[in-house]
Amino acid sequence: MNIWRINVRKQSCEISPVPLTWEGLGGRGLIARILVDEVPGNCEPLGRYNKLILTPGFLVGYGLSSCDRISIGGKSPLTQGVKEANAGGSTGLKLVMLGIRALILEDMPEGSGWWVLRLSKDGAQFHRADELLGKGVNETAQLLLNKYGNSIASALIGPAGEMGLASAGIQNLDKDNVPSRIAARGGLGAVMGSKRLKAIVIDSSGGEKPPIVDWEAFKIARKRFTEALVNHPQTATYRDYGTAAMAHMCNAFGALPTRNFSSGQFEDVEEISGEHMRNLLLERGGESKTTHACMVGCSIRCSNVFGGPDGKSIVSPLEYETIGLMGSNLGISSLDTVARLNQKANDLGLDSIELGAALGVAAEAGLMSFGDGQRALALVDEISQGTPLGRLLGSGATITGKVLNVQHIPAVKGQAMSAYEPRAIKGTGVTYATSPQGADHTSGLTIRAKINHLDPKGQVDASRNAQYNAAGYDTLGVCLFAGFGFAAAPDTLKDLLNAIYNQQADLGILQQLGKKTLLLEREFNIKAGLTKEQDRLPEWMTLEALPPTQAVFDVPDEEMDKIFD
Ligand code: SF4
Repeated sequence: MNIWRINVRKQSCEISPVPLTWEGLGGRGLIARILVDEVPGNCEPLGRYNKLILTPGFLVGYGLSSCDRISIGGKSPLTQGVKEANAGGSTGLKLVMLGIRALILEDMPEGSGWWVLRLSKDGAQFHRADELLGKGVNETAQLLLNKYGNSIASALIGPAGEMGLASAGIQNLDKDNVPSRIAARGGLGAVMGSKRLKAIVIDSSGGEKPPIVDWEAFKIARKRFTEALVNHPQTATYRDYGTAAMAHMCNAFGALPTRNFSSGQFEDVEEISGEHMRNLLLERGGESKTTHACMVGCSIRCSNVFGGPDGKSIVSPLEYETIGLMGSNLGISSLDTVARLNQKANDLGLDSIELGAALGVAAEAGLMSFGDGQRALALVDEISQGTPLGRLLGSGATITGKVLNVQHIPAVKGQAMSAYEPRAIKGTGVTYATSPQGADHTSGLTIRAKINHLDPKGQVDASRNAQYNAAGYDTLGVCLFAGFGFAAAPDTLKDLLNAIYNQQADLGILQQLGKKTLLLEREFNIKAGLTKEQDRLPEWMTLEALPPTQAVFDVPDEEMDKIFD
């Protein structure tokens, strides 16, 4: 495997072996390593010294169920710190087929003009892309498929990334060539836009699967992992209801963000639940699908295709986080409206969590009434039109709240919280506060930990454990839901790594990788000027009780400060 280093100013490509100190890492861990080694902490996120890094996880390419995720990273324009966002789809697999451990995009182009970067076994070429400028993600993807063929993978941005909006993500084609898998968080789409790349196209024709040192041991470990995953009860839940199954669960905990995080329960939760969505999709038929795989070989298939009343697809997939932030958080109880908001966000190439949170803040400021779906759709159209108000909303919840003088901004380090209220799930509150990534449930969700989620005791331990696991899986390219399989058969992870790479991994490998990754990320954040003062939830969440549990966030700062000691 090699490092491909692309200079977008010179339009050059240098291919070199993986340096010794980067070996044993991929995905999120490798991004942290590269940022520490090569990116000045104080650089402008949208300037020439920031780098955009794409790296498949360390287990990508071996035909393991749900283990082909791509990590994308750089310095975040939203948090001003380290950022890794990962996605399913085919980007990770195709990069591995070309032997690419990491693709590092450096510098900024001179002059005007936009580009498509095409990667193949013949190297890298830049193709003019001015005709794609201003086009939505869906149309752009179709034009790329027409031009480059149906067997490509692609990572691309929409108008939000072109505008440099801090909520812009990077969309990836799924296994069916739908550009639905977004590396959403932290504004990496704006970083890609600053390099004036509309799309990266990966043509892996003639490429090869990566080698495996001990095939027999690999096959045994793969079989055991697959069995453990397929037989896990959560696999059936995610297959049948998708992530939307979390709506009822969070509501029961009093942790479903409602009307800009002013309540933890939503009176219309039934209407936005996974159960209701499943019934609706089965009834509607047509293009609707209750289960769908984002990547080849996923045996969980947590995704869906949300069809409207006529059965025509509106968006795919409709996930719990979007339902929480664009549904209950806005007081909207119609899944059709949430799906339309999601579709617009996807086509713009925007993070639906950040946008939902910004709209919640805007609603509190009086720009829309909670529950007014038409107004919410009109506000998202402001972003498509590039109006000052639209650009404000697309810049995230924190900037929106500051400009509109709203005190209740549900964010940490400038990044909006996902759909788990941290006052009612306090371990996840610790994760939001202390993760180097800013508020993000995928950095360490504790809702399944067997603790009293309202008691401040034990939350730091639960969060640390979850953060190490999450960072470990992100380094390996493992979908967090595949973690159910590794949790049920823990020795399979070390067995797979030892069989593929001839490593000496032991049972603690996941947490070791996670810890290493988090320490590197914190090192970069210190270089970037972030301090422990940023490792805090917003003050109002420590003072204002959340109905109906009446909980405040009361995990002591001193305990959180020692989380990674
Ligand atoms: S479980 Fe869902 S997100 Fe994970 S790989 Fe499968 S379809 Fe993609």
